[in-house]
Amino acid sequence: MVKRGEPTEEDYFELKPGQSRAVDVDLSAYYDLRNGGAYAVSYAPHGGELILEASAVQKSGAKIARPVETQSVTIWVDAGARSINAIGPVGARGEAQSLQSRLPAGTSVLAAAAASNSYVKCTNTQQTQIVPARDSAVVYANNAKSYLAAGAAGSRYTWWFGAYTSSNYALITSHYNNLVSALSTQPYTFDCGCKQKRTYAFVYPDQPYTVHLCGAFWSAPNTGTDSRAGTLIHESSHFTVVAGTDDYAYGQTAAHNLALTNVAQAVMNADSHEYFAENNPALN
Ligand SMILES: [Zn+2]
Repeated sequence: MVKRGEPTEEDYFELKPGQSRAVDVDLSAYYDLRNGGAYAVSYAPHGGELILEASAVQKSGAKIARPVETQSVTIWVDAGARSINAIGPVGARGEAQSLQSRLPAGTSVLAAAAASNSYVKCTNTQQTQIVPARDSAVVYANNAKSYLAAGAAGSRYTWWFGAYTSSNYALITSHYNNLVSALSTQPYTFDCGCKQKRTYAFVYPDQPYTVHLCGAFWSAPNTGTDSRAGTLIHESSHFTVVAGTDDYAYGQTAAHNLALTNVAQAVMNADSHEYFAENNPALN
């Protein structure tokens, strides 16, 4: 689950009638295929951002005329890689044991401290930017939690999450309660190895609480629209144990449009959670 910037002209390529374009995607890098067997694979695109004209139509507030669909292809995966399954836990235990063996006798390896920050490939400067970003994300999450606890389904709520229903309001309330809990109490790992300039960050939803930070994150302000703090709200909302959100629409315009046209997706859209928390420009 990736937070990208809004697409610009240079992110599109022209496909002439009858023309095709092929790219290789290593599915095993992103999906667990170790059990082997037959897999049906199809591409599930979100939003109108895939096609430049559809993007313009979406910005105007009209419904997109034609969604992009792909037929599924069936692939067979040999189960031979299953042995990795057995090696994995043994290897992990081995690392813990070797760490233990380097410590003085009588010392035990304890779980990471609550609300701690761990860093992978982060410079000292980056670490000093991450700490206030997480602190501000906690402030954002608490502000949103308080707003929802007061039962205020004002324009701030409806702008991002659509028309009020009691069930959606309860869902959103649970999301921010979980965001406060995660951001203020859990051990996070920040991986700064991603260098993609137009990408803010990404996570694997089933790997809480590791956040991969990319180029756009460092050029963003600490708070405000599409800020570092807001990005941490966005990414944390993707974790299955927090809210399990998806990326149905990126950017304020598309996210607001989702609230008008597809409430079910708006209440599960990561950027919508970020913008509600950032509340910029402020709504009541
Ligand atoms: Zn995302």
